[in-house]
Amino acid sequence: MNKPHISCYIGLGSNLDNPTEQIQCSLKAITSIPATNLIAQSSLYRSPPLCPPTQPDYINAVVEVNTGLTAHQLLTHLQLIEKARGRTRTTARFGPRTIDLDLLLYDNLTINTPKLIVPHPGLSSRNFVLYPLAEIAPDLRLPSGTPLKDLLAHCSATGLEIIK
Ligand code: ADP
Ligand code: MG
Repeated sequence: MNKPHISCYIGLGSNLDNPTEQIQCSLKAITSIPATNLIAQSSLYRSPPLCPPTQPDYINAVVEVNTGLTAHQLLTHLQLIEKARGRTRTTARFGPRTIDLDLLLYDNLTINTPKLIVPHPGLSSRNFVLYPLAEIAPDLRLPSGTPLKDLLAHCSATGLEIIK
């Protein structure tokens, strides 16, 4: 296995079963992924659900890791953590979840396979991803060359609240 050397960003979200605790336990689990080191961690944010709006608010965060894993290996580990924390994949997409772990960025790569799309398709438009990401990587550029700051300029922080 390669030494951790590739910078990646992971988005965390939860709106069930004590979301703050879900995020904190998942953060701990991320630090146990093989060949992977935690580099930076955003604050925790509260965000209103996208849809359906009747579900509870979300708690979100973004972390940077350095990894020696491939993107698909890293995704497999993130899905194992989701599974261990009791997330079932039978619920509707975008529905309530104990924990959602998304691989937002992997190095400067663009990946488009049936299982994995990087940058994560929601990254550019979701305030609960862009604002925590900017907190830990203000000068980041996407693989397309677009500065994160440009995306933020077009994304309202309405409804988003830092909780800790
Ligand atoms: P979302 O995170 O978009 O709300 P889900 O977590 O339910 O939705 O989607 C999970 C599916 O998305 C998985 O089957 C996984 O293979 C796929 N997927 C594609 N790209 C990514 C990515 N960058 N990070 C995490 N999952 C991804
Ligand atoms: Mg997901």
